[in-house]
Amino acid sequence: MRQEVISFSGGPPSLAISKWLDIFQYCRFLRLLGNIMVILVIGLVGFIYSAVLLTYGRRVLHSGGNPLVVLGCVLVLLLFTGIAGMTLWSYLAAVTVDPGRVPAGWHPFTDELQARAELERMSYSNYYPDRRDPRRPRYCKRCQAWKPERAHHCSVTGRCVLKMDHWCIWVVNCVGLLNYKFFLLFIAWAGVGCLLAFLLLLPSLLAFFRNDLRGPMAPVIFIADILSFAFSLSLGGFAAMHGQLLAANCTTIEMYEKDRLHPWPYNKGFRRNFEEVFGRNKLRWFLPLYTKAERQGLLDSVLASGSTPSSHGSSGLGLGLGLGGPGVGPGSGGGSAGGRVLLGMGLGLGPHGGHGGMGGGGGGGGTGSVLIPLMGSHGGSPFLSSGPA
Ligand SMILES: [Zn+2]
Repeated sequence: MRQEVISFSGGPPSLAISKWLDIFQYCRFLRLLGNIMVILVIGLVGFIYSAVLLTYGRRVLHSGGNPLVVLGCVLVLLLFTGIAGMTLWSYLAAVTVDPGRVPAGWHPFTDELQARAELERMSYSNYYPDRRDPRRPRYCKRCQAWKPERAHHCSVTGRCVLKMDHWCIWVVNCVGLLNYKFFLLFIAWAGVGCLLAFLLLLPSLLAFFRNDLRGPMAPVIFIADILSFAFSLSLGGFAAMHGQLLAANCTTIEMYEKDRLHPWPYNKGFRRNFEEVFGRNKLRWFLPLYTKAERQGLLDSVLASGSTPSSHGSSGLGLGLGLGGPGVGPGSGGGSAGGRVLLGMGLGLGPHGGHGGMGGGGGGGGTGSVLIPLMGSHGGSPFLSSGPA
């Protein structure tokens, strides 16, 4: 007997249902919507700027040649033009700068063999002592690749992003390691600009309510002032939230993680947390750019502990066997690192005469990369955490 199955996708019903249930397909629509948001943001900046320009330009025309009024209006317009320019510059930097991607073949281990051994061992339960620790080695199932600490998989862009904060519909980009500063500057400059616009247009708004402001520009100035007020409030709240996160060296994703380490391991104090994002040069704190050295420093801060295939030296052969105590060099295995107990035994074909990091016990004299937890396990498969999208 022939049985026909009707499905919208043309495939089996179970596949059709799972396709509908795949929420990540809707992330593409966010990207489409985001492109409209770019036009909207630039349009809003232009709209509010035009309202201020028209208000103070008209005041100059009606000043009767009073030099103080003319000077005051010109200074106001110069200041506001500078803030509007910085807002747009920061915005475009946040939109266009890549937040930082994981280099192909990167892994947090000393060599390829060790990375492969770790991958095989991922299915072990109780493998890592503390799942809350963001510094643990992590593997992204979707990218099929290792990811550094603080990196997360972004479902909209479909890849892992370094020190991912969130995907932002306003900047149509993922906010992460290399554009977080630009995103914060956009919030700050836009917030200051909106507050200033609200104050500059407030006399005109009051005149509008007294019926003293007439003409075709009256509704434009009225709407621009209301929008400036609303955006200055919302941006102020957003800036306060990110100010707290910056002070604690915590990303938005990390803030929402249920299980977090206390104290937070990345918190180095306000000054160092701030300089980690904004750099040490005080002038460049206000500019949405990084020097080449600053950019490399940021990348090194999250990638330096790992390695890519191209970063390896000459290969060699090593044998490792060890239990407890400090590591005694390549090929010896065992030891303790970072408060974790290591137990290792293995044969390694490593880049520097062998790190002893391969095989059943997976040693690694003092390299501290291969861990077999002896206490404090939390269950599950720790390396399989792909992080929030
Ligand atoms: Zn990924």
